[in-house]
Amino acid sequence: MHYASRLVLGSLDTAPLKTKSLSYQLMLSNGMIAGVSGRGLFAVLPVGQRVIEKLTRLVDSELNALGAQKLTMPILGSKEIWEKTGRWNEMSAEMWKLQDRLGAEFCLQPTAEEMVTQIVAFMSPLRQKALPLMLYQTTDKFRDEMNPRFGLLRGREFVMNDLYTFDLDETSALKTYQDVTTAYDKIFRHHLALPDVYRVQADSGHVGGALSHEYHIPNNCAEDKVSVCKSCSTPLKIEGPTTISKCPSCSGDIAVVESVEVGHTFLLGDKYSAPLDARHTDKRPYFMGCFGLGITRIVAACIDSLSVSAKAMRLPKAIVPYELGVILPKKYKTADEEAAVMGFLEKLNTGSLKGEILVDDRGDKSVGRRLAEMNKLGVPNAVVLGNATLRTFQEGEPRFEFVRTRLRSEELEEVGLLSYDDLMDEIRK
Ligand code: ATP
Ligand code: MG
Repeated sequence: MHYASRLVLGSLDTAPLKTKSLSYQLMLSNGMIAGVSGRGLFAVLPVGQRVIEKLTRLVDSELNALGAQKLTMPILGSKEIWEKTGRWNEMSAEMWKLQDRLGAEFCLQPTAEEMVTQIVAFMSPLRQKALPLMLYQTTDKFRDEMNPRFGLLRGREFVMNDLYTFDLDETSALKTYQDVTTAYDKIFRHHLALPDVYRVQADSGHVGGALSHEYHIPNNCAEDKVSVCKSCSTPLKIEGPTTISKCPSCSGDIAVVESVEVGHTFLLGDKYSAPLDARHTDKRPYFMGCFGLGITRIVAACIDSLSVSAKAMRLPKAIVPYELGVILPKKYKTADEEAAVMGFLEKLNTGSLKGEILVDDRGDKSVGRRLAEMNKLGVPNAVVLGNATLRTFQEGEPRFEFVRTRLRSEELEEVGLLSYDDLMDEIRK
């Protein structure tokens, strides 16, 4: 249970922000992030941290279910390993480079293919049973983006979940690729329940490899575009200079959807394992895959796609900062009344709601004002212990005033006075 009076809630900035990015506005005004270090660099404040950690754990659990194992690699990568693959020079100005006191060169890693492959080379040859080896981390990545913008949507430091897979040959690597794809689909479509997720075949770019897909979700800040068939809904390709006008599979018309890339998968081959000498017993380099989910970007993109105004942030239920809000009375009329309220809180704070309750105890703010803030924070369910509820306490048959928020709506929906059991049913829905 967290008490609003003790939290960093609400905006730290006073000037209204001029941006078309809803997520940027809402994350700032809800006190989830703060810009304190220059363009594209944000502090993640406690309420924002909760959301990021929930998403991190959700992704962890899906990857662990595949048999992937979590590790943490240094963020500083030596020039030496990045030179082995030629990417020290290839990565251009996006790579942050720095030196230690002795002049040795490092980068703040934008991704970690070289480093993970180096680790696996040290451990090799792996026993047959260890394959496919799947290693992942969730760490800060650094890219000196030309145009960092829209808050967490395009930062210069951001959180990425990066997974690397090592297989014996292409056939088994392809199966691993498909397994990870299934896990990614489950994350976006089932856990986050996003209405539109487009998986499109993509360019491998500087990462390299034979096969690559990007995951996109609609986003009006138009970082990217995908083409979608209006008839069969097939996501086709990323809009580029070569535009197609008809769907190749059903000849339907093509719609162009403004989107943002939230995940990227690559079937790599031996681009890293050969130069870094990560080899199986028969000396053949492992067949690798790599996979990235932009954790902080996904949070921003979810807010953009599920919210309709800067008045009310909306997030998938799986990653809301709190599942239940409770608005306490401005003051108590009697000691009995206070004891009844405390008893209710204690009863609530058990089972799956434990740790998921935000109690707004700020008696200096009106109930209406505090409800508006709950709505803005996107808490999906709230109980108001105002006059209506307290009257039922006095009458000896407690009922609880219940309100909730809905995705793609900025309104608070008043459900009314409910018995404790009905309240619990509504919250669990
Ligand atoms: P973009 O084309 O949007 O710059 P990218 O193709 O360079 O992204 P990848 O190298 O594929 O990015 O990184 C994997 C994932 O990391 C991306 O799908 C995205 O979700 C996330 N990501 C990449 N760059 C950023 C950034 N600057 N800020 C936040 N997330 C990012
Ligand atoms: Mg990409």
